[in-house]
Amino acid sequence: MMHEASIPAQVSTKPALVVAPHADDETFGCGGIMALKSDAGVSVHVLLLTDGRSSHTHVAGTNVDELITTRNREMIEACGILGVPADRIHFLNLPDQGLSRLNHEAFVDASTRLANLLKQIAPAEVFVNHPFDRHPDHEAGFRILQHAIAQSGLTPELFHYPIWLIWKGPMHWTRKPASLRGAMRIDVRSVQDRKERAIQVYSSQLPVLPPGFVKQFQQGYEVFFRQ
Ligand SMILES: [Zn+2]
Repeated sequence: MMHEASIPAQVSTKPALVVAPHADDETFGCGGIMALKSDAGVSVHVLLLTDGRSSHTHVAGTNVDELITTRNREMIEACGILGVPADRIHFLNLPDQGLSRLNHEAFVDASTRLANLLKQIAPAEVFVNHPFDRHPDHEAGFRILQHAIAQSGLTPELFHYPIWLIWKGPMHWTRKPASLRGAMRIDVRSVQDRKERAIQVYSSQLPVLPPGFVKQFQQGYEVFFRQ
């Protein structure tokens, strides 16, 4: 397990922004840290990058508008369980499964809107998916964030959380990350029951994730790489 190769670390009391490419990434990757910070009275904001329209493209008869509404509602409920109120959840409404194909104008527009949000909430820490997280939306989302941080003039500490990077499913077994050394491990066992409840809120997503995928996020630890 990756956890054993990582270094134990403590949750800080610094205000944070968690960036999620899709509704559920925040809970899987950072749900425990969100709950621990919230319990300590620390401000946590969450930003959802995509509108979630594409998780059920393989399911005939899916109503896209309903799906978008459902996923946003699930995110608000899951984040609420983890201590983040609805008014600290922000939506960029970018195209699901389309972040890596934004044209230049759309990329700059997304980055500018994200830079404005950063300036508004001025987080000391930003948690974002790993830059090589093996999903095009995740990797493009990281690039948008990086651009936005430069544009904002702010210098938050940046932490990368793995979602697809550590998935050892049959599709990925040959694709080993260059290095997992230097990962930090946060013990979230004291809030794992709430994280579990937040995970279960995502009833639209759990059936479409690969078998065994969710188990990675039920181990009582969260892992981060410091940029
Ligand atoms: Zn995702």
